[in-house]
Amino acid sequence: MTSINSQLQAIHTRIQSVRADNGCPQPVYVLAVSKSKPAAAVREAYIAGQTMFGENYLQEALEKQAQLTDLPIEWHFIGPIQSNKTQAIAHHFSWVHSVDRLKIAQRLNDARPIDLPPLQICIQVNISHEESKSGVQPEALFALASEISHLPQLRLRGLMAIPAPTPDIEAQREQFKQVRRCYEALIAKGFDLDTLSIGMSDDYPIAIEQGATIVRIGAAIFGARQLQSTCLN
Ligand SMILES: *Cc1c(COP(=O)(O)O)cnc(C)c1O
Repeated sequence: MTSINSQLQAIHTRIQSVRADNGCPQPVYVLAVSKSKPAAAVREAYIAGQTMFGENYLQEALEKQAQLTDLPIEWHFIGPIQSNKTQAIAHHFSWVHSVDRLKIAQRLNDARPIDLPPLQICIQVNISHEESKSGVQPEALFALASEISHLPQLRLRGLMAIPAPTPDIEAQREQFKQVRRCYEALIAKGFDLDTLSIGMSDDYPIAIEQGATIVRIGAAIFGARQLQSTCLN
């Protein structure tokens, strides 16, 4: 077994035990975050059974996709979105997790080809109220969700968040809990949602315990990334 294969197996085993220990009823999907990793690593993970992949940088993603056209991969865009990237994102991805303003949602809607299924959308929520972070503030979430739900080429599926990293497990749990409360509040208001995209390599067990349905895992599958001068969130 390759190491990517064995890391994936280990993650699935861990997910099953966290679900069992906490009586989690929700399904949990692994989104393999392949940013900064070559197409060969994606192919290896695909052969090991992984079908959903997440990318943060458009240009890098398009180059990899071009080398993997023979595989029916489901691509998810999870990085910050600039207006001039919406056209390509709407053509080359099935999901976008990082929508945090109406203008971007409208541009994705307008650019989504009508012969493709609607683009599956998560709204990114800024739970730690950090000025520098992307994500809509919880107070503005309901209005944004309402507007997005009227865009015909988008299908609102749920919420995504990247809580501020903290060594304090309780603080981490509390942040995930806040995202889940936002998610449940929208469902209570009638939104038909099924996706809570929270949890990464270092904290996915806590995220699952708090209701995650998609965990976005990079380093724990592919190994550590080289440090880059650009911000990796
Ligand atoms: C890089 C990244 C991940 C994966 O992080 P790991 O710590 O490598 O698991 C998940 N979500 C987003 C938005 C990312 O940018």
